[in-house]
Amino acid sequence: MCIFCKIIKHEIPSNIILENDDFLAFHDINPKAPIHILVIPKLHVDSFNEATPKIMQNMTTFMQNVAKEVHIDKSGYRVITNVGDDGGQEVKHLHFHLLGGAKLAWSHLSDSDPKGKF
Ligand code: 5GP
Ligand code: ZN
Repeated sequence: MCIFCKIIKHEIPSNIILENDDFLAFHDINPKAPIHILVIPKLHVDSFNEATPKIMQNMTTFMQNVAKEVHIDKSGYRVITNVGDDGGQEVKHLHFHLLGGAKLAWSHLSDSDPKGKF
């Protein structure tokens, strides 16, 4: 079972922001911005390559609600999903990064230095 499926089952603890029957939002363990949230479907799909229109339709509303919940909907934020090796995807369970809480630099996630670029 993948690490995010274990988080869904509460076998690994996480700091949950919002949850419903189909989706979970929790704080990234290694934040790259003042607010760095991961949003995942509870149904395991490996990446955006396997995302269906049905998942995405409901996920869109869920992510919008997450942004409202942490009060970055007005100030703005960035949504990222990494796909595969070149995309820098480490966890093979579809997830969207929601980054905000400061004016963000435009750089690759793994290149960003949280101390100085925003
Ligand atoms: P990726 O590189 O696959 O797009 O992003 C994976 C993200 O998952 C990384 O930002 C990493 O910090 C986060 N992550 C990995 N393991 C855990 C964990 O056990 N708990 C939480 N909350 N985040 C994790
Ligand atoms: Zn999974």
